Amino acid sequence: MTRAQFTEPAKKHLGQHFLHERGIIGRIVQAVDPQPGDHLVEIGPGQGAITFPLLDRHGELTVIEFDRDLIFPLTEAARAHGTLEVIHRDVLAVDFTALARNFGPGAQLRLVGNLPYNLSSPILFHALEHAAAIRDMHFMLQKEVVDRMAAPPGSKVYGRLSVMLQAYCAVTPLFTVPPGAFRPPPKVDSAVVRLVPKPPAQVGIADPARFADIVRAAFGQRRKTLRNALAGVADAAQIEAAGLEPGLRAEQVDVAGFVRLANLPAA
Ligand code: SAM
Repeated sequence: MTRAQFTEPAKKHLGQHFLHERGIIGRIVQAVDPQPGDHLVEIGPGQGAITFPLLDRHGELTVIEFDRDLIFPLTEAARAHGTLEVIHRDVLAVDFTALARNFGPGAQLRLVGNLPYNLSSPILFHALEHAAAIRDMHFMLQKEVVDRMAAPPGSKVYGRLSVMLQAYCAVTPLFTVPPGAFRPPPKVDSAVVRLVPKPPAQVGIADPARFADIVRAAFGQRRKTLRNALAGVADAAQIEAAGLEPGLRAEQVDVAGFVRLANLPAA
């Protein structure tokens, strides 16, 4: 039994909630459905709950883990399952584009992870910066975060995260996971989501920094109208030129509306 080698207690500050429900682990592996030649990369392998089943299925895997106490037992236990490359680093410092290039020209990564919940948004934004190097992502997150990621315009939880992720990815919530599936159990429900980056032509954003600024400003003061929230970023004439009513609030504007506004020439 390989788990016996993991002796350290779960570390709260690293968001460690280890999955133990075999049924849930099986559903994650099934959702990823690794195929020969795929370049799988797991973020935060922990004690290997998803790592070893993925290795059994695929034979090789790269993992990124920040907790030094887990590196040795993980490496040892993996020997019985396949070839594991362990990157001991903060995932936010990992250049996914360079990592993909290591697999050969044009290679793309398939990211998997039961993410540390305290870092979920930074990890998602970091992945977006490397979207061209990523084929897809399967992440376990707080259910509330997955709801925000997938929310349509007009929904109470539609916001910056929804617009930024839906602009660059197809977002598909897959299934909900109760706290009892983890040790120790988190306080909230979790959910598994699939993100598939869109090809750049489909994204259609001319200047990603401008797009990000507009979305941030629009939702920075979500009760304000676009005219007021975007003051200093876009004026009423530009908002109208994008086909939007300046009296609307950000939560009423769909992703395409934000893209049109960001793509207008500067005033
Ligand atoms: N995959 C394991 C599972 O499902 O049981 C563990 C998931 S646990 C929710 C999150 C994992 O991410 C932990 O192993 C934790 O040490 C790791 N982690 C936390 N912060 C990290 C960071 N900045 N970079 C890489 N890994 C990190």
